[in-house]
Amino acid sequence: MRDQKFEEVVAYRINVNGVVQGVGYRPFVYHIATELGLNGFVLNSGNGVIVEVEGRPEDCLKFIERLKAEKPPRAIVKTISYEKIPLKGHDGFRVEQTISEEVETLCPPDVAVCQDCLNELFNPDDRRYLYPFINCINCGPRFTILERLPYDRVNTSMRPFKMCGECEREYSNPMNRRFKAEPNACGACGPGVKLYYKDKLLRVSKPISEAARLINKGFIVAVKGYGGFHIACDATRGDVVSELRRRKKRGNKPFAIMVKNIEEAENIVELNDAEKKWLLHYSAPIILAKKREPNPIAEDVAPGMKYLGVFLPYTPIHHILMRGIEPPAIVLTSGNISEEPIIFRDREAFEKLESIADYVLTYNRRIVNFADDSVGFVQDGQLRLVRRSRGFVPEPIEVELNVDSVLAMGADLNNTFALAKKGRIFISQYMGDLENLSIRKRYLETIRRMQQLLNLKYDRVAYDLHPAYYSSQIGLSLNGEKIPVQHHYAHVLSAMAENNILNSEALGVAFDGIGYGKDGKLWGSEFIIVRKGEYVRRGHFKYVPMPGGEKAVTEPARMAFSYLYDAMGEDALKIDIGLSDNVKRALKNMVDKGINAPLTCGLGRMFDAVSALLGVCLTRTFEGEPAVMLEMVADMDAEGSYPFKILGDKEYVVDTAPIISMIVEEMKRNIPVRVISKRFHETIARITVELADTIRLEEGIKNIVLSGGVFQNRIVSTRVKRLGEERGLKTFFNNIVPTNDGGISLGQVVASSLAGEE
Ligand code: ZN
Ligand code: ZN
Ligand code: FE
Repeated sequence: MRDQKFEEVVAYRINVNGVVQGVGYRPFVYHIATELGLNGFVLNSGNGVIVEVEGRPEDCLKFIERLKAEKPPRAIVKTISYEKIPLKGHDGFRVEQTISEEVETLCPPDVAVCQDCLNELFNPDDRRYLYPFINCINCGPRFTILERLPYDRVNTSMRPFKMCGECEREYSNPMNRRFKAEPNACGACGPGVKLYYKDKLLRVSKPISEAARLINKGFIVAVKGYGGFHIACDATRGDVVSELRRRKKRGNKPFAIMVKNIEEAENIVELNDAEKKWLLHYSAPIILAKKREPNPIAEDVAPGMKYLGVFLPYTPIHHILMRGIEPPAIVLTSGNISEEPIIFRDREAFEKLESIADYVLTYNRRIVNFADDSVGFVQDGQLRLVRRSRGFVPEPIEVELNVDSVLAMGADLNNTFALAKKGRIFISQYMGDLENLSIRKRYLETIRRMQQLLNLKYDRVAYDLHPAYYSSQIGLSLNGEKIPVQHHYAHVLSAMAENNILNSEALGVAFDGIGYGKDGKLWGSEFIIVRKGEYVRRGHFKYVPMPGGEKAVTEPARMAFSYLYDAMGEDALKIDIGLSDNVKRALKNMVDKGINAPLTCGLGRMFDAVSALLGVCLTRTFEGEPAVMLEMVADMDAEGSYPFKILGDKEYVVDTAPIISMIVEEMKRNIPVRVISKRFHETIARITVELADTIRLEEGIKNIVLSGGVFQNRIVSTRVKRLGEERGLKTFFNNIVPTNDGGISLGQVVASSLAGEE
């Protein structure tokens, strides 16, 4: 018999918030509670996980300490709060059903299949041997199958599948790895895979192996993934890849490849530790890594590129498929035509992919939320996403700012929108370019869906200052208070938000193609001071005309002419940039008379111009192509840079004429394009740091925040970082949020909330 005083029993109620649903949090709590001999229960509520424990005071406190110190691998614990409550006399420790209150808890992103499940998948003695929907509490689809919170099976597209006895036993046994694994299933009770030729069902016993065999034979096969359909083909066969390009109506834009495993990936691209880590990460993004030369991949997969977008199998279907694939890698690109949205419904797949894919490998579980693959690259050991979607969405960005009830529309290119609630900003999955009508339709649908899914409301609408943006026009048609946000201010705020420096002042440097400025001109090379919810423009590059407006964006030779004409006047007509004399004279006329020649200082346009001037890219087939190709040709060993001039004082202007003149000079002297390209990049980096340093000294500011599409350029961003370090500057870039316009929605939310604070 124990001494009476040790029989003292107390009770605590604990509330855990964060990403704690669908990540094995309840079994984890159950284990600790039973180990410590505590009674009580754990449940998922609309407001995080709620635990009640009863037991000896020291055990209860030990329990709370362990919750603070430990967590299951995928959980993200944001807050743990607890209070002493009256005893209820619980008997044992139970895992209870979810109770619904106001739903506030986060929805987990999709998770790549885990090693435990893979071991079972390929174990002939396992009851799930080769079952393509194997999953557990640590892995499987999440966001893409979720209709509403809380994350419970009845709220997902697993609802129609009734678990068999064995699955049910796993699901309800707190000691089992599949305890409360909402998509739990097996061959007897879960979804199944089917293979079609066009829309005719093929009666084959092993549809996935058959699909692999067809890919090996050179066919193009559509494969349904977590967030939509992919198109797959042999990545080593140039003829097949070119055929896919033709059918998809895709210019030179690179395709991503799925590689069998990390060892094969290392034979195709060079991988450092951070790149390997991200390839193997449960978010399974596409990583842009340096091509090995030679490599077995067809050149047409990523023509002219130094980098290849590679990723590893992340669904059980991929793993089974890749086992049957003979080449080391397949092209696996979003299932869509040209710039249209990714297809995620079977009906649409049969209708629209017919012209692209010979065969369709699909399954009978609905994708509720589409999500393209996320894409990123590693710079200085850090992941930098250029597309944030599957595997990351809808994890919120948390800010120490009263962001609440805002809808931010984003910008038109690489669109995402965002919804905010209580300091959390939920950035949507990647939408695409709103210039496309079907993307606009999906945009409105998805805004509605996300509100429903995450139970978010808004009474303010933040949108881009550009009056002609579709996102702005659509935003203005919605209910709520309207808040216009300048594009480059939003870029800078997006990087400040994810670097957690919203409370300090910063010098923002925003370089991109084009954004609408306060003065009605097209900005894009901004040096702005961000202070107390406002910004002041302190510098930019020189304005030049864009002869033909939008046409100058798709035909970079027009920009080349404009910069040449600005730098050397009439002599510009003598320089060969792949345009006829007539065209050049017409362009000169437009510029002289100011007809259809809006002014821009967008640095992206200057990259376009130099790319065309050097003959690297005269017409573009995808967004950013001229600048990307200019980066690709640069010889990293080349040294030197060009002279530049910075004019003005209150508002500095970088004169671009000396740079352009020097480039022309060097071309005449037959300096190789790869050397000129590198020197141009170096020059831009030097100007950036020089001017940033000047302004920050005048303003007494420490933090330099760099954002905008130009900072996807690895030469510019690494050189700016290095040169900045040499001068003791503290530089911040976007990482998990795209530095391109995919990050604008985040900046808009922040801007609208800062404006509301004054
Ligand atoms: Zn698993
Ligand atoms: Zn089953
Ligand atoms: Fe931009």
